[in-house]
Amino acid sequence: MLSAHDTIRDLGGIARGTHLQTLGFTRQHLADQVKRGTIQRVRPGVFAIPSLADDIRSAIAHGGALSCVSVLRSHGIWVLPDETGPHVWLGPSQHALAHPHCRCISHYYGGTPVPGAASIERALLHLRRCAGDEAFFAAYESAWRIGKLSRAARDRIRAALPRVARWLVDLARPDADSGLESLLRLRLHLLGIRIGCQVTIVGVGRVDFVIAGRIILEADGEENHGSSDKRHRDRVRDTAASRLGYETLRFDYAQIVHDWPTVQAAILGAMRRVRPAAARA
Ligand SMILES: [Zn+2]
Ligand SMILES: [Zn+2]
Repeated sequence: MLSAHDTIRDLGGIARGTHLQTLGFTRQHLADQVKRGTIQRVRPGVFAIPSLADDIRSAIAHGGALSCVSVLRSHGIWVLPDETGPHVWLGPSQHALAHPHCRCISHYYGGTPVPGAASIERALLHLRRCAGDEAFFAAYESAWRIGKLSRAARDRIRAALPRVARWLVDLARPDADSGLESLLRLRLHLLGIRIGCQVTIVGVGRVDFVIAGRIILEADGEENHGSSDKRHRDRVRDTAASRLGYETLRFDYAQIVHDWPTVQAAILGAMRRVRPAAARA
């Protein structure tokens, strides 16, 4: 028979005491194992292995499950930064806990949280309520891109969204290179600007967006454009693009996330330069 530790590990790192008892572990045995430190009692009736992620342990100790930003980030999904503590799903009926020194973000959304971490689907739906349409859209595209959302999962998310929000998943694509690109595309869409996405230009390569057939927009994430090598490559591309009659605008994370009005003004200014008549219309 497996030890209590290995059994809980195989169950995903967390298990209810009642479930463990059906597998043959007595209450006394579990209590002994807690004393010896091989397993932990996270809250009454819920046991975990010591290596369980801290934020999941914290969510369970709160009486809920980890969800939202915290779950998505743990799966490597791009989420607008949020320097706060774990996002905990408590369900609709729990009372707010008094935990003055805790940095958790509590969500009293519908459904029954099972101790542990919520699914990616559930976490995405929670993120929209917690952080809004843009955060949802960028995380949804990121999850899709890295293969974490099946067709069936996307359909379920769409069905679970309020009708007024379904256009977000209809607009989403699986080929956005970064969350910044997702944000940029969503915002340009809301401005009614028609764009080509992931366009290959002979002599330049693949660019993030093309507007009006003349303006190239690139969203430069830190991870992709930080090194001097990459900067050099970007300049070579921009030079090649200029030769072909394109104007390239590059925006980084801080600009897109924290200074959107300036970015928007720059894009509209470029559009006026390349087609003055159309922009006035
Ligand atoms: Zn808390
Ligand atoms: Zn949240």
